[in-house]
Amino acid sequence: MQPVHVIGGGLAGCEAAWQIATRGVPVVIHEMRPIHATAAHRTDGLAELVCSNSFRSDDAAANAVGLLHAEMRRLGSLIMRAADANQVPAGGALAVDRDAFSAAVTAALAAHPLVTIAREEVAGLPPTDWDSVIVATGPLTSPALAEAVRGLTGADSLAFFDAIAPIVHRDSIDMSVAWAQSRYDKAGPGGSGADYLNCPLDRAQYEAFVDALLAAETVPFRDFEASTPYFDGCLPIEVMAARGRDTLRFGPMKPVGLTDPRHPERKPHAIVQLRQDNRLGTLFNIVGFQTKMKHAEQVRVFRMIPGLEQAEFARLGGIHRNTFLESPRLLDPTLRLAAMPRLRFAGQITGCEGYVESAAVGLLAGRFAAAERRGEPVAPPPPTTAHGALLGHITGGHVVTIDAGPRSFQPMNVNFGLFPPLAAAPVRQPGAPRLRGAAKTLARKQALTARALADLDAWRAAAEPVSPA
Ligand SMILES: Cc1cc2nc3c(=O)[nH]c(=O)nc-3n(C[C@H](O)[C@H](O)[C@H](O)COP(=O)(O)OP(=O)(O)OC[C@H]3O[C@@H](n4cnc5c(N)ncnc54)[C@H](O)[C@@H]3O)c2cc1C
Repeated sequence: MQPVHVIGGGLAGCEAAWQIATRGVPVVIHEMRPIHATAAHRTDGLAELVCSNSFRSDDAAANAVGLLHAEMRRLGSLIMRAADANQVPAGGALAVDRDAFSAAVTAALAAHPLVTIAREEVAGLPPTDWDSVIVATGPLTSPALAEAVRGLTGADSLAFFDAIAPIVHRDSIDMSVAWAQSRYDKAGPGGSGADYLNCPLDRAQYEAFVDALLAAETVPFRDFEASTPYFDGCLPIEVMAARGRDTLRFGPMKPVGLTDPRHPERKPHAIVQLRQDNRLGTLFNIVGFQTKMKHAEQVRVFRMIPGLEQAEFARLGGIHRNTFLESPRLLDPTLRLAAMPRLRFAGQITGCEGYVESAAVGLLAGRFAAAERRGEPVAPPPPTTAHGALLGHITGGHVVTIDAGPRSFQPMNVNFGLFPPLAAAPVRQPGAPRLRGAAKTLARKQALTARALADLDAWRAAAEPVSPA
């Protein structure tokens, strides 16, 4: 059997290779370290964690990344096995001894008879006789390979910086303050004329908001990020505010072409717009609000916006050096590049964010490639699972927009806003008090996670009629 080639021995590549090999298919991992370094990796170990040593919450009942952990464990993940075996105390989070974790992943792959580890850079498109390839080269993909992919997908299809605006759960926006309307009621291609949610600010609210932006603490760029240009229409909101007190009012917060239906006589001094982000309509991003503010500062400052006082954030803003594809346009539902289907993509380069998410997408890519090689059906997981929700964000859930500014598809952590809503509200136990507030939110999350695990088990059983080798 011809091997599957995995380029990149990081979180995604290692998980993909493991899934392939455990299905009886030979696999070659091509990892360029230590021959070529990246700006962030420090060792020659596979699955090196470049920054924090945390895999975040391990709560599978009420947290989306905890659910992803649980699903990965059920799917035989090597990354989770190595993480569990090398845990360090971290409260409700799963944190690991990074060196022992990386050593465990490296040793497991090196010991597997179907895995070959080649220490080399793939410095261009893979040779034509590699008929099944997974590109898992991460946010710091080597320039030669990035250029080759860019040549294949088009210059605008591979970004080298993300410009992430915060995303808010739709049901946490106060619709007694906000209203739905597109500027000048323009329907545009595919719109309704009421595609944005608008939050009005009077002069005093605007001035206080600008003061808060200017005073907020920010995260500095890393040394290697400082040299990468990102100023193409995606200035951080606080940098815009620093250029002049009215800059935002003439930029992303301009109050024109919009009328509050409840108070048509009022002319807001500024307006914050939120735009639908996913097909499900559960998530809205704050238009033009990419930022380097610290996360806690973002929550504090953005909750000053009328209508967002109780906002729950599915994603907070950021700007980082990254490498990621415009996946919803380029990849098919099993992560293959439509323009060259022998190439699959996995990990952060697909537009997911985080160690765990990168490994989870590697897990899926590995399973898809192995099934294809074995001549078995390649079935994506149901959208109700954490894996399916993440895959949906990458390959199809995002609503593309045509506004000026940063590209609308941006990296995302797994979160409950990506899951299809429950068909019915969770039922309370007979005699128990009516569910409200935090208890209601918790019950909803528990119902989502229970549905996810049940659906994952059904998918796993159907996808694996034969037991893996
Ligand atoms: C500086 C930085 C800090 C981050 N901090 C965190 C954090 O704290 N927590 C978190 O959850 N996420 C963090 N991330 C985001 C992300 O989760 C990690 O980058 C994660 O490692 C991505 O997994 P991956 O498998 O896609 O890429 P990687 O783990 O980076 O693996 C890619 C591998 O491909 C190799 N490679 C690249 N090009 C080639 C080539 N042409 N040929 C052969 N090999 C190649 C690289 O050497 C690397 O080993 C951070 C990202 C960066 C850049």
